[in-house]
Amino acid sequence: MDRKKIVAGNWKMNMTYEQSVRLINELKKITNTNVEIKIAPSFTNLNSAIALLDSSSIEVIAQNVHFEQRGAFTGEISVEMLKSIGISSVIIGHSERRKYFNENDFILSKKVKVAIENSLSVIFCIGEELSEREKGNHFELIKNQIINGLFELNINQIKNVTLAYEPVWAIGTGKTAENFQIQEMHQFIRKLFEDKFGAEISKSMRILYGGSVKPNNAEEIFLLDDVDGGLIGGASLNFSDFNSIVEAANG
Ligand code: PEP
Repeated sequence: MDRKKIVAGNWKMNMTYEQSVRLINELKKITNTNVEIKIAPSFTNLNSAIALLDSSSIEVIAQNVHFEQRGAFTGEISVEMLKSIGISSVIIGHSERRKYFNENDFILSKKVKVAIENSLSVIFCIGEELSEREKGNHFELIKNQIINGLFELNINQIKNVTLAYEPVWAIGTGKTAENFQIQEMHQFIRKLFEDKFGAEISKSMRILYGGSVKPNNAEEIFLLDDVDGGLIGGASLNFSDFNSIVEAANG
């Protein structure tokens, strides 16, 4: 099945307003691509990013959302707030949220539900720590993250989810997983979806790889059978690297 590739830039807690405007103005030069391009700026830069990309096919997405609809949750951002400025997708379960903000599977499944039930698409991140891989637990761990985070959704809801497999030991470390490790995990993930939701869903499900994707390794990673693009951290912060990665996905 032909699955359109996605290249999504996760800016994390980087970019002032001015830096964000500068990079977006460069990104606007990317045209003529078959790739779905997304960027996830910080909350403070979402509004301006949306305005700047008004006539562009680049989608602005959020890095996080709270699981309650509204109320006394100081510092948090709701689905309703995101939707009110024109956001329609959100990243949930990034390993940095799991690790530094104690977002466990229970919290993440609540976030997924509130997002999906309110018509936001989700990029759901999963990934194992190096210690888990060394113990040989990585397949079991990924399976549990997926079951706990996503398997209460129904068939129509799961269509609005994109997966991002990001081995934690490869994020921001310059260390990429070997191609065979990426492909075998993506294939494993696709099979889990087939067993739960059927072949049609599984074949159309997009599974991104994330973890030190750079211009020099993007092409070989994107050529792997079950890889449908990438979630890009560091290399999404400058135009030239991000553009090269988009070109690699364009084939
Ligand atoms: C990420 O944050 O999702 C990521 C993959 O980061 P990096 O590309 O910097 O490893």
